[in-house]
Amino acid sequence: MNCERCGEPITERERLCDPSPFVSQRHRECVLRSILGGANHIRRLCSCFGGTADPDPPGLSRREAAREAVRARGITRGDDGTQN
Ligand SMILES: [Zn+2]
Ligand SMILES: [Zn+2]
Repeated sequence: MNCERCGEPITERERLCDPSPFVSQRHRECVLRSILGGANHIRRLCSCFGGTADPDPPGLSRREAAREAVRARGITRGDDGTQN
């Protein structure tokens, strides 16, 4: 199964705990990216806040940009699911 958003394969480990139809076909970070916006949006550097940056940092794949957005937002729960 490939992620609907970034196109990279999703392993069982990377899926959200809640296997709802909406989230089960995307990585956790890709779901969060679609909810939160890009890292530069979260950091208020994009045009939404009067800045000039793209919502996602340049030079990253969609998946890397999604991870960066999660980092920018400060969501640090591990992918291994040992927390919470
Ligand atoms: Zn993805
Ligand atoms: Zn924005």
